[in-house]
Amino acid sequence: MQTRVNKIAAALQDKAVDALLVLQSENRFYLSGFTGDAGALLITAGQSYIITDFRFIEQAREQSPHLEIIKIEATLEDALADLAGRLNLHVLGFEADYISYKFYDTLHDKLGEVTLRPVEGMVEQFRLIKDKDELVAIAKAMSLLDEGFIHICRFIKPGVSEREVALELEMFMRLRGAEKTAFPFIVASGARAALPHGEASTKAIGLGEAITLDFGVVVDNYHSDMTRTVSLGSPNAQIREIYSIVLEAQLNALAAVKAGVPACVVDKAAREVIASHGYGENFGHGTGHGVGLAVHEGPGLSSRDTTVLQEGMVVTVEPGIYLPGVGGVRIEDSVVVEQNGCRLLTSSPKDRLIEL
Ligand code: ZN
Ligand code: ZN
Repeated sequence: MQTRVNKIAAALQDKAVDALLVLQSENRFYLSGFTGDAGALLITAGQSYIITDFRFIEQAREQSPHLEIIKIEATLEDALADLAGRLNLHVLGFEADYISYKFYDTLHDKLGEVTLRPVEGMVEQFRLIKDKDELVAIAKAMSLLDEGFIHICRFIKPGVSEREVALELEMFMRLRGAEKTAFPFIVASGARAALPHGEASTKAIGLGEAITLDFGVVVDNYHSDMTRTVSLGSPNAQIREIYSIVLEAQLNALAAVKAGVPACVVDKAAREVIASHGYGENFGHGTGHGVGLAVHEGPGLSSRDTTVLQEGMVVTVEPGIYLPGVGGVRIEDSVVVEQNGCRLLTSSPKDRLIEL
């Protein structure tokens, strides 16, 4: 944690700020280890601080021994203004993407002569590359999904609702160590599978329907994410056809993942396959995203993201084809980027459409 704080401290000068105020919860955890839901960090070139209220003082002491703890007596804005005065700060950087107008306005008033300067991605740039411990937590979270997938394939029967499937899947993985779900599970059957983000509904699953299951859990604060499309009984011919195209696209994209490759190149590898079969218009989202303290983080594997992949990044690869009125197929694995390729963190089978 101290090393992470030092990296931010060393980057302050480049951003022309004397200190960085960190409020975004994953960024705050990344630098402090603090899991309370209220508090701010102030990173300076010298000492760094965690500013929180009475409820969290003991917790901060335990989780963030490398930070000096400041107790909020009145408001966070008052405590920050106090500290800024004491440290003689001139320019205070804040996370442009995460601060409300109201907070900015109040802080601006209280800070007086101190200039507030918006900065972007200062902590996120370091979060892109995962260290050993982070990779261990992510791998644990991912392996629970593989176990969950085996279980849920046995559970799905005609007449069971999508919501029952989501609940069963959640309970199974939580009883085995998942802290919580990474997002509301997508269980989309039949024509609903044409919705790329069809949250589990009360719809009963019928024979002959394809079902897209997109799910993830959190272990030690790190997320996991995978998707499989399965079929209850025999699916229609078009679902079979698009399954093999999505699989080809997914394998092509996975083959493109390695250190040194821009994220958009991986996206192109998936998109080209799908377009070559005439379904380009039916693949309307990016090919993948980073996974870590947030389920969706950088880099984005999209046509617009030119981030060069580096060893230790964790990304999903998840092309899909969605046919309104018919259904859809998506296959999503998560991988660690390596020097000469990538390592799969998802081991559930995908080489053919599983018929339950
Ligand atoms: Zn997913
Ligand atoms: Zn995903």
